[in-house]
Amino acid sequence: MDKQDYLVSLVVPCYNEHETVETFVKTVDEKLESIKDHLEIVFVDDGSKDDTAAIIERLQKDDERISLIKLSRNFGKEAAMSAALDLVKGDALVMMDVDLQDPPELVLEFVRCWREEGVDNVYGIRTDRSQDTETKRMTSGGFYYVFNKLSSRVKIPSNAGDFRLIDRKVIDTLKQLPERNRFMKGLFAWPGFVSKGIGYKRPERVAGKTKWNYWKLWNFALDGISGFSSLPLRVWSYIGGAIGVLAILYMIFIFIKTAITGVEVPGYASLMSAILFLGSVQLISIGVLGEYLGRLGEEVKGRPVYVVSKITGPLAKQVKNGMSVTPVGVTCNLDAENKDQN
Ligand code: UDP
Ligand code: MG
Repeated sequence: MDKQDYLVSLVVPCYNEHETVETFVKTVDEKLESIKDHLEIVFVDDGSKDDTAAIIERLQKDDERISLIKLSRNFGKEAAMSAALDLVKGDALVMMDVDLQDPPELVLEFVRCWREEGVDNVYGIRTDRSQDTETKRMTSGGFYYVFNKLSSRVKIPSNAGDFRLIDRKVIDTLKQLPERNRFMKGLFAWPGFVSKGIGYKRPERVAGKTKWNYWKLWNFALDGISGFSSLPLRVWSYIGGAIGVLAILYMIFIFIKTAITGVEVPGYASLMSAILFLGSVQLISIGVLGEYLGRLGEEVKGRPVYVVSKITGPLAKQVKNGMSVTPVGVTCNLDAENKDQN
């Protein structure tokens, strides 16, 4: 690729972000002035219920570099990112949040590493998480530790989010991955290639509220772990084996003890604790099985991860008309929606 004349697609998933989109575009214009001829902004409206899409369409009138991929409903950030991966045409892609928690000026450094050092996957690392609460820092630290311990081949760098630049070859590799469980932090690390992390201080949201809570984060962590490791499934054979060995030893002990001292009736407490302990071990292991089985069901059903209902802006001209189906998504109705643009 000729990196003299390159195009970087800034991909920005938005869900109910009417307070932030305008500020985002203004800040990007200002901070990325020096590479503005090489930039396009691709917003993915993830089924917002407010007027986010309308605001983006208004901004498109003044700026012909802005495209909008509108999903048919809220599919989640991972799905929104997958849609953009499938559709954008840039030589590189930068994933960014619209709330300016991913500082736009860092994109200059990403682009420099990509063009000058030949790095294919440049990601931001949150070096200072003082904005986060102590509990959030601890739980997320725990997650990275557990994930990297359990996943033997794909390691994700601690405190790296989705904020990153990836080269076209990484995009094309990711487009081939057919799984429905889109744990993007893991998927971004999966293709390998030359990778580099750059530290930054993550500021607070400019406006609006985070879309996450602890319950969602917990489920997200389960998605990540189950998508990249089958150790939680296999570990039960070892736990079962270990308990079996202990049980046999205990049996021998009881046998000898009874032979020597005769039958003793008491034992209610130890019996109860053994039953309760084993019962809970069994329930946990069935639960783990359920986690995997449920996700297996999702994969087997093979439903699309996202459905695009409309594309506007420059991207519309480049995306094939009619209905198109990629390994993980469906893009419909382009014919009807984009007639005027083609
Ligand atoms: N987002 C999305 N779909 C969702 C939830 C969030 O596209 O269902 C977008 C959101 O608009 C924002 C980004 O994902 O641009 C990150 O969301 P948020 O700021 O809530 O996450 P946090 O920064 O708190 O991790
Ligand atoms: Mg945010």
